[in-house]
Amino acid sequence: MNPATPTVARDRLRIAIQKSGRLAEPARALLASCGLSWRESRDRLFCYGETLPVDLLLVRDDDIPGLIADGVCDLGVVGRNVLLEQDAGRRGDGRASAFREWRALGFGSCRLALAVPEGWEWQGAAQLAGKRIATSYPALLSQWLVAQGVAADVVLLSGSVEIAPRLGQAEAICDLVSSGATLAANQLKPVQTVIESEAVLAGPIGGFDDVRGELADLLLRRLDGALRIRHSKLLMFQARRESMAGLLPLLADAEAPTVTRIDGSDDLALQALCHGTVGWQRLEELKRAGARGLLVLPVEGMLA
Ligand code: ATP
Ligand code: ZN
Repeated sequence: MNPATPTVARDRLRIAIQKSGRLAEPARALLASCGLSWRESRDRLFCYGETLPVDLLLVRDDDIPGLIADGVCDLGVVGRNVLLEQDAGRRGDGRASAFREWRALGFGSCRLALAVPEGWEWQGAAQLAGKRIATSYPALLSQWLVAQGVAADVVLLSGSVEIAPRLGQAEAICDLVSSGATLAANQLKPVQTVIESEAVLAGPIGGFDDVRGELADLLLRRLDGALRIRHSKLLMFQARRESMAGLLPLLADAEAPTVTRIDGSDDLALQALCHGTVGWQRLEELKRAGARGLLVLPVEGMLA
C-alpha cells in the first residue's frame, strides 16, 4: 500500500493507542478529556467512538508508527523514542519518512540514555570505541555513534537490556531511563542522553484530504486546550489599586489577568488563569502583597 495515499476515503478518524502498558491509561484519559467516549468491542481491540466519529485501536506501541505509515490508523499515541527509532530505521533502509510527531503530550517522560558499569570513570563518547553496546534502539544508537564519530558494535536485544553487561553480552547499554532505579539495581550508571522522550500524538507527514482533516483539527484544538489547562488554576481575589505593582510579579505565569473596578471604592477584583503551581506558598505571598478573598478554582476546559 502506498502510505501517502490511503486507498479509501474514510469518514471516521482512527487513533491507535497502547493496549496495555505505561501509556495506555494516560492516553485514553487525555482523549476522554477532549470529549471523546467509546463503546468497547468484545475483543477489546477496537473501541467505537460515540460522541464523535473517532475510534480507538488498541495495539502494541511498537506497531503504531507502521499502522500510521500503512494508513490503517490515522493518528497514534506513542513514545517519541519508538517514533524516532522507527523513522531512523526507515530512513536507514532508504525509505521515506511516513509519520511525524504532531504534539508532545506531557506524560510518559523518559530518556534514551547510554549507561556504563558503575566502576567506569566516564570521559566521553570516545571511550565507547570498539566496545559492544546492547540496545533495543539500534537505529537511534547508530545515528548517535555516527554523530559522535565513534565506531562501536551495536548489539540488538529486544528486552532485558540492562542485564547484558552482567551476562557478558556487552560492555555498555543504551536504554530507556526514567528514575534510574533499574540501572542502579544492575550496577550501571547513565552517562549520556541520546534523546529526551515523552508520549506524543503521531500522525502522517501531511494531513487528510477528507472529513478526517476536520476531525483531526477539532481534536487538535481540544487537545491544545486540554494540555494548556492541565496544571492550570483560575485565581480570583480582590486588592486595593495601590497593591497592584506588588501583586503582578506574583502572577508572572498568568495570561493577562482580568481586572475589574469595584464600584464606589478603590478596590479591584482580579481574575487570573495561572499555568504554574498555585500552592499555599504563593497564596501566602499574594496575601502579604495585599490580596484579599483569595479563591483558587480548577479549570475544566478551555478553547482559545
Ligand atoms: P507493548 O506491549 O505495547 O510493546 P512495552 O513494554 O514496549 O509495551 P512500556 O514498557 O509500556 O512498553 O513503555 C511504553 C513507553 O513508555 C515507552 O516506549 C516509553 O516511551 C515510555 N516510558 C516512560 N518511562 C519508561 C521507562 N522507565 N522504561 C520504559 N519505557 C518508559
Ligand atoms: Zn513495545
